[in-house]
Amino acid sequence: MSATVISGKDISTSIRETLRERVERLKDSGVIPGLAVVLVGDDPASQAYVGMKNKAATEAGIHSRQTTLPKETSEDELLGVVAGLNADPDIHGILVQLPLPEQIEEPKVLMAIDPSKDVDGFHPINVGRLAAGDLDVMAPCTPRGVIEMLLRSGNDPAGKHAVVVGRSNIVGSPMAALLLRKSPGGNATVTVAHSRTPDLGAITRMADILIVAIGKPNLIRGDMVKAGAVVIDVGVNRVEDDTRERGYRLTGDVAFDEVKEVASAISPVPLGVGPMTITMLLSNTVDAAARSAGIGDA
Ligand code: NDP
Repeated sequence: MSATVISGKDISTSIRETLRERVERLKDSGVIPGLAVVLVGDDPASQAYVGMKNKAATEAGIHSRQTTLPKETSEDELLGVVAGLNADPDIHGILVQLPLPEQIEEPKVLMAIDPSKDVDGFHPINVGRLAAGDLDVMAPCTPRGVIEMLLRSGNDPAGKHAVVVGRSNIVGSPMAALLLRKSPGGNATVTVAHSRTPDLGAITRMADILIVAIGKPNLIRGDMVKAGAVVIDVGVNRVEDDTRERGYRLTGDVAFDEVKEVASAISPVPLGVGPMTITMLLSNTVDAAARSAGIGDA
């Protein structure tokens, strides 16, 4: 068997077209969705992510504002910037790029963002609402993107056994919560595995839908996957590659060439979950703008 490839890039393109139409409708009602991205320091990976997010927002018609602060910025200064954005009616979504420099406590900053503008879905109120099965909550972008990939590729998780490998606050845990929700994209039977799970293969082989967010290149091999399973690879790892000018290439947590011979569908890395994460950020921003204007379904 050679699996169908679930292209996050293609699904993303189609969702972004719909988003552009929603933005136009909002503009007709006098609301320009606004996204503020805050970057502290000069980490090249963070700079690249922020650049991609700004570009995607602008292309979607979203007003995007970047605030770049030096790496010596104090916690109080950053909290002041967040407070200003909370109070700014032109800004509907606030994203503080992680990781933050060590003098700043990340939880304090995430807690300071107005939950209604928390487009990353990391505020404890939004985390709690998601855990409680709230359907209107702003859910974290990467797991939301995975659910869209499953639904739009014809792989509804309802009634399926979904195994999530990884339990981080950013991916694994909210992923499991979304799969469990009583709503479209949910209703799965969910197992979560992590680094303390013995015999990982015995667990992953039970999965009808296997979602992997570990951060270890090619950890999931062909013999760890059930025939016909749907596999979504969230992992993004840099591996050395002398054939590339930059000296590395990006690879997922799943050994793609092996697993594609066993699975019925698989997402690639790159161009799988990555583009979906940014698309869901745009979607959360447009949702927040619509809600702020009392236009729930714009
Ligand atoms: P974390 O490091 O926060 O979490 C990794 C998880 O994997 C942990 O729960 C850890 O277990 C588990 N784990 C580690 N080793 C093993 C193992 N050998 N067997 C089973 N489980 C293991 O990473 P993130 O969740 O933030 O990210 C995961 C991956 O997804 C990374 O490659 C990251 O780059 C990528 N990513 C991609 C995004 C995208 O847009 N495409 C967005 C966000 C992340 P334990 O809890 O026990 O330590």
